[in-house]
Amino acid sequence: MEKLFLSIDHLKSVSKTRFKIYQKIGVLTPYDLLYYLPRSYKDYREPVAAADAVMDMQNVVRLTITAKKNPVYSSRGMQIFRADAVDDDGTEVGIVIFNQRFTFQALQLGKSYVMYGKIVSNQNENRLNIQNPQLLKDMENPIEAVYPQTAGLTSPMVRTNMKECLQILDELPFETLPAVLRNRFQLMALPKALHAVHQPETLEQIEEAKHRIAFEELLRLQLGLHLLKYKAQKKTEYPMQMIDLQPFLDHLPFSLTAAQKKAVQEILADMSGDSPMNRLLQGDVGSGKTAVAAAACYFCARNGCQSVLMAPTEILAEQHYKTLTGFLESLNIRVALLTGALTAKQKKTVCAEIADGSAQVIVGTHAVFQKAVAYHKLGLVITDEQHRFGVAQRNALAEKGGAPHKLVMSATPIPRTLALMVYGDLEVSVLDVMPNGRLPVKTFAVTGKLRQRAVNFMIQELRQGRQAYIVCPAIEENADSDFELKAVTAYAEQIKKTMLQNWHVDILHGQMSAQEKEETMKKFHHHEIDVLICTTVVEVGVDVPNATVMMIEDAERFGLSQLHQLRGRVGRNSLQSYCILVTEHATEEARERLKRLCSTTDGFQIAEADLQLRGPGDFFGSMQHGLPPLKLAKLTDTKMLHDVQEAVQYFISADPELQKSEHHALYMDILYLFSKYGINGLN
Ligand code: ADP
Ligand code: MG
Repeated sequence: MEKLFLSIDHLKSVSKTRFKIYQKIGVLTPYDLLYYLPRSYKDYREPVAAADAVMDMQNVVRLTITAKKNPVYSSRGMQIFRADAVDDDGTEVGIVIFNQRFTFQALQLGKSYVMYGKIVSNQNENRLNIQNPQLLKDMENPIEAVYPQTAGLTSPMVRTNMKECLQILDELPFETLPAVLRNRFQLMALPKALHAVHQPETLEQIEEAKHRIAFEELLRLQLGLHLLKYKAQKKTEYPMQMIDLQPFLDHLPFSLTAAQKKAVQEILADMSGDSPMNRLLQGDVGSGKTAVAAAACYFCARNGCQSVLMAPTEILAEQHYKTLTGFLESLNIRVALLTGALTAKQKKTVCAEIADGSAQVIVGTHAVFQKAVAYHKLGLVITDEQHRFGVAQRNALAEKGGAPHKLVMSATPIPRTLALMVYGDLEVSVLDVMPNGRLPVKTFAVTGKLRQRAVNFMIQELRQGRQAYIVCPAIEENADSDFELKAVTAYAEQIKKTMLQNWHVDILHGQMSAQEKEETMKKFHHHEIDVLICTTVVEVGVDVPNATVMMIEDAERFGLSQLHQLRGRVGRNSLQSYCILVTEHATEEARERLKRLCSTTDGFQIAEADLQLRGPGDFFGSMQHGLPPLKLAKLTDTKMLHDVQEAVQYFISADPELQKSEHHALYMDILYLFSKYGINGLN
């Protein structure tokens, strides 16, 4: 089976040019090609009436031969054969065959044939012609796979390469599931499934094959995560002792909620054990994850170890830095900030403090796991909003130390079914109680006609000394940066001149440098700005408690979870906050979606709704989780999830490291996929 994992240009039918195209779309090996699945199928067994044929396209028709003409030669020496025919409705169709004598000879007067070819309208004869038809009995695959459209790569090209690929598979059939599991769950053999999905003989077969492949996808993912977890069970290099947290608690400006206390206990219990903690701290926006993280850092520092808190953006890193400094500095714990925005000189100073251990807690962006940064007894790695980093980065940082404890914080509530997939290798603590005194954010959906009223409402809040965000109309995801900039600026200019002319308005967007962003956020923090017009840059983590209004333009364009995240920027103190969703062209379905958001503030419910409405592809799409993609498996298929779970249990008890020879194929499979998508913790 190794042959399947060679570079794809080892296939005879793959040229240099095609190799490049395949590389672009991530098809690197024959194995990848086997899992490059058709988008749809054409069923050539179903003839259409000639009158309904699509002009200048390939069509399938059934024709009865009424006359055969003598061949003629074209000026360029081509032999042209013609025949007359009628379809079942009596429509006359001329058959034109260039050069292919045998096809012509096969046609018998008075007989009917299902054939497939380009139908053109012949103006001179005032009838339809079919050109160079293929007779169905000659066709290898009467149901033809249609592949995703990519520049330079047509379906016939893929089919040719796939044919060669499937031949290799026939020489080296490989099977990842033992017969007992295949029987138990009534699954097709893998080689058969791959044949059936690319070269089906019947439509029923396709469904059965897809079922097998979907099962395979889920199994690989879950088993792969299990292996990651299994291998991660090393011993920690810096064992920690239980210590008294009271000094830390005394210095907090508030007392922890019951949920925070429980999470802290779980974390400390993990960290005083022998094996590295691998825990997810999941809590809705505003549930107070940072204080929990700070408790873990305190614990770590008192045990003589360093901790790192890594945030996905500069803004967030700086905010965490301030918060942690506030919580810890008066306890004589030194907190340092390390981001890409520092000057080379500043970086050098910080790195020196990290290396000699004088910096005990390090807060930063991805800069914290660059090669140049050497740690001094790194005992704890915390990543905030982990879905933005992906499993690969999470592991990269973990490799910095001697098997440090890992805590992952996520504000995106992940439905249970998905959590199992993405975080299958983690234990979970949940903050399901909000700090006291928080009022749920009131949410309204309005159409563009009511924009003026919405802004008037915002102004009332501003008059009472509050602040507001306006999230700009959504911009096409792949629009270039200039375009984005123009759109944001134009919108801001417009609203500054009209509705908000008496207020301090400023903008925040992704094209600004880290420093500019920081300046602006600082001004907003200090209330030098009343209304901040922004793109989704503010989506995660930003904390300005005095902001009470979040107005979102073109709200229908965002996913529910993202809207929920944006809404979480307000309602961050005991004041009543508001979220106004403005829609201009919402469909019925979009309105339904937004209604859900108005009726609940429970992030888990929203995530579940999002999953149901958009499907896991989209849900995952925005997350960059760094796991192998699921092409066919539906995470809403609970029956299959359940079966897969059972299969996983089978392997865990029979062969937890997949080292037996009969599990070799599955092991290779998982290893290949996980390394391809950036998770290298497996080997
Ligand atoms: P998130 O979970 O979204 O990261 P934060 O950690 O940013 O939430 O906390 C949100 C706000 O709530 C912060 O201003 C923080 O100081 C405050 N906070 C956290 N825990 C408590 C608590 N137990 N009581 C009161 N306020 C709290
Ligand atoms: Mg946070």
